[in-house]
Amino acid sequence: MRRDVFTEDHEQFRAQVRRFVDKEVAPKVEEWNARGTSDRATWKRAGDEGLLGVCAPTEYGGAGADFLYAAIVNEELARVRAHAMMLSLHSDIVMPYVTEYGSEEQKRRWLPGTITGDVLLGIAMTEPGTGSDLANVQTTARRDGDHYVLNGAKTFISNGQIGDLFVVVAKTDPQAKPAHSGISLILVEADRPGFVRGKKLDKLGLRGQDTSELFFEDCRVPVSNLLGREGQGFKMLMQKLQQERLVIAITSMASCRRALDDTMVYVKERKAFGQPIAAFQNTQFRLAELWTEVQVGQAFVDQLVAAHARGDDIVMEVSGAKFWTTDLQKRLVGECLQLHGGYGFMMETPIATDYADAAVQSIYAGTNEIMKVIIARRLGLGS
Ligand SMILES: Cc1cc2nc3c(=O)[nH]c(=O)nc-3n(C[C@H](O)[C@H](O)[C@H](O)COP(=O)(O)OP(=O)(O)OC[C@H]3O[C@@H](n4cnc5c(N)ncnc54)[C@H](O)[C@@H]3O)c2cc1C
Repeated sequence: MRRDVFTEDHEQFRAQVRRFVDKEVAPKVEEWNARGTSDRATWKRAGDEGLLGVCAPTEYGGAGADFLYAAIVNEELARVRAHAMMLSLHSDIVMPYVTEYGSEEQKRRWLPGTITGDVLLGIAMTEPGTGSDLANVQTTARRDGDHYVLNGAKTFISNGQIGDLFVVVAKTDPQAKPAHSGISLILVEADRPGFVRGKKLDKLGLRGQDTSELFFEDCRVPVSNLLGREGQGFKMLMQKLQQERLVIAITSMASCRRALDDTMVYVKERKAFGQPIAAFQNTQFRLAELWTEVQVGQAFVDQLVAAHARGDDIVMEVSGAKFWTTDLQKRLVGECLQLHGGYGFMMETPIATDYADAAVQSIYAGTNEIMKVIIARRLGLGS
């Protein structure tokens, strides 16, 4: 079925992205997974190709494109399983905080480098003691003259080792009631004294993506690094999470399509009892069902991508898509792995890494349980 959300111009862009990804990214995925990180040279090449911050305003070096272009970049990277290069985090999750809430001075200072790939971004929300309950962060940013002094610990931070600039969630007013009204967002450069990178964490999946601990030890940051206003941090986070969750739904569907395509090829080649396993009715029914679910999910996500690009408030729908598509992805890769038999359990078979990589999709960007809490609240259920 033709995906009519994309125009001819979008499809031409997709062809350009695909050429770049096949040549510059796909050959490195295995090495990145073994090393536990992507390489900066490829980020830089992606910047040269115009693939970083495609939606960022043109006056700072971006393409000023609509969100469908960002969706294409994310789909093409997921198609080659390039999860190590978390371009979506950089361009579509963190950069929008600067483009939307940054002062003119902040934008001029940081955006050009993020678009060329010289400055890599991360966001530090989660702490050892709190993830879902974001209002409970313990990292503090105490005002001292024209500086903030940051103290605290963060964990599970993507791009923690290679990132240069982090949006840090900290309490500027730890006594505030309600607690979330004391939260602010502060841009922290990784080369500041007191910014300490901790361990790169050993993970089940996303082996090539760098996920780390970060520590702030009397880290002094000028007040000019504050994003927006003091105490507005939680509100800004809530506003930006719609796009973060939509990106997860987009990559989930792209990963489902990739796993399904590979499985279709495998079941036609692999023989048992003198015939391809594709000839067994069980195989046919399983794949027919999964294919149908992918069509349903893709139609929903495409509709949301178009609505998001228009600027619609679709928090409920995106929360639903995030949990539904990631649950589908986990189930689909499990069933595709089963159709690969023992080879599916071998790390040399891509479906094995798909299985491990899928597990986190229902956890980060807000767990799937939190997605249901959001929907239930907006349905007027409970408190
Ligand atoms: C690979 C990876 C990359 C990540 N990257 C980043 C990053 O770049 N920046 C960042 O800040 N964070 C990042 N995270 C952290 C991620 O966002 C959190 O792990 C996630 O929000 C869940 O928080 P938690 O781990 O503390 O789980 P908890 O909040 O402790 O949750 C544990 C369980 O309790 C459930 N639960 C919690 N509250 C409720 C509730 N109200 N109702 C029902 N169930 C509930 C959860 O759904 C979950 O099943 C990353 C995590 C991973 C694994």
